[in-house]
Parts: sequence; C-alpha cells; structure tokens
Amino acid sequence: MIQNIKLKEKKDIARDTTAFYFEKPEGFEFRAGQFGDYTLIDPPETDDEGNTRGFSLITAPYEDKIGLASRMRDTAFKRVLKDLPLGTEVKLDAPYGDYTLHKTETTPAVFLIGGIGVTPVRSIVAQATHDKSPIKITLIHANRTPDDAPFMADFERLAEENPNFTFIPVATKSAPDDWAGERGHIDADMIRRHVDDLNKPIFYLSGPEGLVKAMRQLLVEIGANEDNIRTEEFTGY
Ligand SMILES: Cc1cc2nc3c(=O)[nH]c(=O)nc-3n(C[C@H](O)[C@H](O)[C@H](O)COP(=O)(O)OP(=O)(O)OC[C@H]3O[C@@H](n4cnc5c(N)ncnc54)[C@H](O)[C@@H]3O)c2cc1C
Repeated sequence: MIQNIKLKEKKDIARDTTAFYFEKPEGFEFRAGQFGDYTLIDPPETDDEGNTRGFSLITAPYEDKIGLASRMRDTAFKRVLKDLPLGTEVKLDAPYGDYTLHKTETTPAVFLIGGIGVTPVRSIVAQATHDKSPIKITLIHANRTPDDAPFMADFERLAEENPNFTFIPVATKSAPDDWAGERGHIDADMIRRHVDDLNKPIFYLSGPEGLVKAMRQLLVEIGANEDNIRTEEFTGY
C-alpha cells in the first residue's frame, strides 16, 4: 500500500539518533517487525542514492502512530529528514518483510542486536508485551556506550511490564561504574551466560549487513542450528 503520511513528532532517542513519528493512516495494518520504504516528496536536496530509504517500523501495530528511527549520518536524505517541518508529508510504501516473531509459544526468541538494528525489535517486544505473549524473549543489545543505545528506557519499562522479556544492554566501549549491563563485545561466553540451551531458541539478527553476518558466524561457531536463525539486513548501511 502506498500512501502519504504526515510527520507528527521528532524525538532524539540516543546520540545522533532520532525517531520520527507519523500519523497512522486509517486502515493501515502491519505485523510487528516489518518495514516500509519512505520517499521524500520534492526534497530541497538529493544525491545519487535517491529520495527513498527502507526503515523498520518502530511502533507496534496496537499503537496509534507509526515511526522510524535512524542514526543521523550526514547524507542528503537524512539532512532533509532531520529538518522536515512537522506536518510535512512523506510517501510510505509498506508493509514489507517477514522479520516477525514466530508463533510457537514454547520456543523462546533471542535477539542478538548491534546499535540501530534494534528498530524492529522495539515493535516486536512492545506488541508481545501488549498481547501478554507467553513467548520468552531475550534481547542482547550492544552499543558503544549507554548514550548510544536507542530505546533503552522503553526496553527497561517493557522488561518491568513483561515477565517473559529479559533485556540485556551491552556497552562495548565504556559505561559508568554503576552500569548493570554487560561490558565488551557480544561473544560466545556472553551468549552462553544468557541462553541455557543453544538448540532451543529462534535467534533473530537485524541491522547493518556486517553486524548481521558477524553474529550469524558466531552463532554457527558455537553450535546453534542455522535453521533457527532469522535475519533482517539493513542493506544500504
Ligand atoms: C529492510 C530494511 C530495514 C532498514 N531499517 C533501518 C532502520 O530501522 N534504521 C536505519 O537507520 N536504517 C535502516 N535501513 C537502512 C536504510 O535504508 C539506509 O540505507 C541507511 O539508513 C543509510 O542511509 P543514509 O542516507 O545514511 O546513507 P546512504 O546515502 O544511503 O549511503 C549510501 C552509501 O554511502 C555510505 N555512507 C554514507 N554515509 C556514510 C558515513 N557517514 N560513513 C560511512 N559510509 C557512509 C553507505 O555505507 C552506503 O554504502 C534499513 C534497510 C532495509 C533494507
């Protein structure tokens, strides 16, 4: 479905990272974890990559707005997006993709995520919490520092609300002394500390291609079944 949607709100959610919320069009339906292609309409500047980018939908289907979040790099698309006045319309072609939570309630889900790759996970965990899903969900989310971690407060709140959701933030570079999360890169030992049986869960990996590939390789090396790995690569990063 292609339609114009109006920008309602911009919110900085981590260092150099902004969430953009739009009016949800009447009758727009999607599954948590899906993405859309956003096109800027008559932007004041453009470049070779054009005026369209894919972004995961960060809100859950039950919520009354839709949104995207991005690291605000200095590209024509993102400069225009950043300065877009509230009320401006963009074109949304959505929903697409099948990076959605599995159905089998006894199978746990483990998300191994770096940085901005967490966008579809925000939608999935928010919807699962709303639905009181019995699926056990673990999110291991790595960022350089806590200030770089998008949706940190959201995930902390969701972990309090949802007894089946475990949130493990990871600081790869530095964190304050009282940091309760993990430190260092996601590696075999860290995964084993939080996942009892590597053969039980479905693993979900999303984000820039390099990170997704590295996580997949790590999982295969430590003996996870490749059939149980689902991915969403943010091609273009
Ligand atoms: C299914 C899907 C879901 C996605 N979801 C998200 C999401 O939720 N959030 C999100 O942010 N992105 C998401 N993306 C990626 C998004 O579509 C863009 O490709 C990405 O944000 C980069 O856009 P850009 O305008 O910054 O760079 P572009 O202008 O598209 O960059 C073009 C090229 O230049 C390089 N480049 C540009 N700027 C820099 C820089 N500063 N340093 C190094 N290299 C650079 C890039 O590597 C790329 O090869 C998703 C992509 C897909 C396919």
